[in-house]
Amino acid sequence: MSVLLGAIADDFTGATDLCNTLVKQGMRAVQVIGVPREALDVGDAEAVVVALKSRSNAPRDAVSDSLEALAWLRQLGAEQFFFKYCSTFDSTARGNIGPVADSLLDALGADFAPVCPAFPANGRTVYQGNLFVGQSLLAESPMKDHPLTPMRDSNLLRLMGAQSRRRVGLVDRATVAAGADAVKSAFRDLARDGVGYGVVDAISDDDLLTIGEAAAELALVTGGSGVALGLPANFRRRGLLGDPAPAGLPAVEGREVVLAGSCSAATRRQLDHVRDTWPCIRLDALRIAGGDAVVDEVVERATGAWDDGPVVVYASADPDEVSRVQAVLGVERAGAAVESAIASVARALVERGARRLVVAGGETSGAVVSALGVRGLVIGAEIDPGVPWTKALGELPVALALKSGNFGGEDFFPRAFGMLS
Ligand code: ADP
Repeated sequence: MSVLLGAIADDFTGATDLCNTLVKQGMRAVQVIGVPREALDVGDAEAVVVALKSRSNAPRDAVSDSLEALAWLRQLGAEQFFFKYCSTFDSTARGNIGPVADSLLDALGADFAPVCPAFPANGRTVYQGNLFVGQSLLAESPMKDHPLTPMRDSNLLRLMGAQSRRRVGLVDRATVAAGADAVKSAFRDLARDGVGYGVVDAISDDDLLTIGEAAAELALVTGGSGVALGLPANFRRRGLLGDPAPAGLPAVEGREVVLAGSCSAATRRQLDHVRDTWPCIRLDALRIAGGDAVVDEVVERATGAWDDGPVVVYASADPDEVSRVQAVLGVERAGAAVESAIASVARALVERGARRLVVAGGETSGAVVSALGVRGLVIGAEIDPGVPWTKALGELPVALALKSGNFGGEDFFPRAFGMLS
């Protein structure tokens, strides 16, 4: 069977999150890292998600990357398209959500798409067109101070209206509560009136399923991963998708390694959980930046400790230590030095037999995947909410669990490897 759903995600962990949602609804999903420059076999994937880095770059670049991704997904035969952005609508006054959605609609020759970042399981709900984070309006949540995309308005109609060329309307909660047919006719009415986007209220997963069903015939759906919950059922109703089967696990044997570059509280708790039982090797950010042969030393120590359990290599430090390092090196140089050291360690350990890798940190994951030359990931079973086991697409026999820093419970590392044994 060919690809049914083609998606474009504006960042890496967002793409994984979307794949994970689709897999849980019984679709075989592959995450592709950037638009492939050469032919790439996605196997028997029913959903393909292209992970871009288009959240906060110039709108022109975000648009051209997204259009390239769309063209590639169309070549794969996808018949419906999804534009995935963050459930907190991370964007600036210029975009990139509006300009990208506009260009995708234009390219598809379509005139309407729903806009729904809601993700109730994570506290993101939309009511009367306003986005809430937990009990707070978006603009009163910590997102108001985000370094790249500070969100100072909570009203999605205004936010989308300011970024896009099309008019924006509302499909309110009462309509959603009335069911998929009511939502479908609200979409039709908006489109007939020349309104290009319908912000859709959603406060529960049931609402998302209703919206997904109502979107069955639309060429483009936009939103957070939540609104994709209802899309697989549309293909199933048409007999294009089998019954949901439990997601598999990567069948990969070999050494187990944790690579941690996240300094988040959750990752540090996860490291504390294994500190006394597994060999743990610290990467010193200042030594790395000082040009010491830290990577060689760490690789030697790690391979020497293979037999004592999964080996943990970490740069993660508490906020005081991170501030000290950043004061010496600058924020960007500190981050880049650590990311590149972890990526080199990953490459060397894979050359020496590491096959099951857990990576903690969004940027860190991006650096590791690129150092390993991984072009795509087949998404498997979920370890903790939002974090699946994956297997590298292609020749490299490597299982990867790529975890955004704050994700996962305290026992995430042993649980992840425990699922593979
Ligand atoms: P998260 O998902 O928690 O945001 P990321 O990997 O995206 O994790 O970001 C963590 C950043 O912190 C990376 O750029 C990493 O290189 C950097 N970092 C890790 N350890 C240290 C350290 N000890 N000092 C300074 N920066 C660090």
